[in-house]
Amino acid sequence: MNLPRSLRSLIESFEKLPGIGPKTAQRLAFYLLHVPQEQLEEFGEALANLKKNTVLCSIFYNVAEKDPCPVCSDQNRDKSVICVVEQPLDVLALEKTGSFKGLYHVLHGAISPLNNIGPDELYIEQLLDRLTPRVSPITEIILATNPNMEGEATAMYIRKEISNLKSQISNLPRVTRLGQGLPTGADLEYADEVTLSRALEGRREY
Ligand SMILES: [Zn+2]
Repeated sequence: MNLPRSLRSLIESFEKLPGIGPKTAQRLAFYLLHVPQEQLEEFGEALANLKKNTVLCSIFYNVAEKDPCPVCSDQNRDKSVICVVEQPLDVLALEKTGSFKGLYHVLHGAISPLNNIGPDELYIEQLLDRLTPRVSPITEIILATNPNMEGEATAMYIRKEISNLKSQISNLPRVTRLGQGLPTGADLEYADEVTLSRALEGRREY
């Protein structure tokens, strides 16, 4: 016996999501059979509008409803410091601490040769572009990539690329890395606010 076509196609869609295997995909699809039609339609609408109603901020590549995003259009932010993170959720986590008043740059991933993600797949070039007026308004770059292998590799690569700009920029920004408190191998987005605040305060020259 074959499953009805609509059920099969939903299962196949779920299977394409990260971390969801065939068993979980089936369970989710069958679960949704018991959900009221109205809720299913809300779910469908949220999916259909997901990309239509969001944009990437053209300055730091955050996910937002409009461009420039609220952070970039906030006149009270310190425009001389850029905090470089892997994901938009990391921006959210750092914003929750309330202890960072600078700007951000979202890379949308980390260098990972195993997954075929090289520097060109990330928004690294765009970060370097933000530094390149001859007299850079940026005085500090905080590398807040995750404290795991990919995050470290990414931080090292960016630090090297920034020092390569020496001939083009007369005042290279200092490069720092988030301080202690963050467990090695952890994800920034799961760190609690106190740990993240401490890591920001304890950032070191990198
Ligand atoms: Zn922005």
